[in-house]
Amino acid sequence: MVHIHHFTFQEPLPRLSGGWLSVLETYAFQTYTIGLRTSKIEGKKPLLAALRQAVAETPFFADKQFVLQHPDVEIVFDELIHQIVIHIFPVILVGRYTKLQRTIAQTRHFCFECKGSGKKNGNVCPQCKGEKVLTKESVQELITPFFQKEFTCNEVLFHGAGREDVDVRMLGSGRPFALTLENPIVRTIDVEKLRTHINRALKGKVELVELKIGHPNDVANVTRAYHTKRYRALVESPEKINLNPLNAFLEQKMDVVQLTPTRVEKRRVMKERPHWIILESFKRISDHIIEVELHASAGCYIKEFISGDNGRSKPSLKDWLRVRCGCKELDVLEIVDAEM
Ligand SMILES: [Zn+2]
Repeated sequence: MVHIHHFTFQEPLPRLSGGWLSVLETYAFQTYTIGLRTSKIEGKKPLLAALRQAVAETPFFADKQFVLQHPDVEIVFDELIHQIVIHIFPVILVGRYTKLQRTIAQTRHFCFECKGSGKKNGNVCPQCKGEKVLTKESVQELITPFFQKEFTCNEVLFHGAGREDVDVRMLGSGRPFALTLENPIVRTIDVEKLRTHINRALKGKVELVELKIGHPNDVANVTRAYHTKRYRALVESPEKINLNPLNAFLEQKMDVVQLTPTRVEKRRVMKERPHWIILESFKRISDHIIEVELHASAGCYIKEFISGDNGRSKPSLKDWLRVRCGCKELDVLEIVDAEM
């Protein structure tokens, strides 16, 4: 969030009171930095030093700390355009979530057919039936209001370390995520208390396994990390399943090449990606249903590995079992170590 205030640069210092200070008074921040934009190359250093000192001596800043890196607030005195530009930096939170139902998406998905308008050619959009979104509930939408309330912030951006499908549960110790809280009035709260509160309110749906105040770099660290994952899947076939062929693949790291799946080809570049899969265990549930546990490389499509996706996943569980099959239920059991 950026606030801009006009001022007249009264040599040698701008008046350290007035509107821009009252803006800052609404924010509970601890650290700040001071910048200066001026045409005077010669005099910049002493003027900046004088500004920093004048600000530090202002009573309002007495309990605040001047820092050079990662401040809560940046105040830039711009002599060229006679403006004080106040930049309120977001609060970053990092954590891990589990998702316990097969009807919750990770983030809100606007309808791609009507681009979130709910209408198509003047009629109700057939894809979303006028709902504008394709998801009824999402982890993002379920947890966001709690943060907006506690931090009094405008917007909460959700960044997941990858994602799972709506119908896939996220179990174990959860999936890493980061939140960017834009323009927060409050910056420090009892995070553990908030986590407990959220978990009580969202019981049976979503649990925040971990939550803590993060660092600006954490957003990139979370979204760029490549995690391998362990899965449990129920595999169903219209034919009777013979488990014997699977013994040949048990506990072995198998290479799998996957072409962009049919179901996401509208959104992703069409290309072949190399992956690996380890079949960790398998057991019979009925003649037509088996349960398998798999460990797979980051980004490997599990539903497609199971069905073969019309030859787009090579090999596939269908190839190994030698019968047509599909994924009936899928859970992420564990997000394993980051694979760089
Ligand atoms: Zn629509």
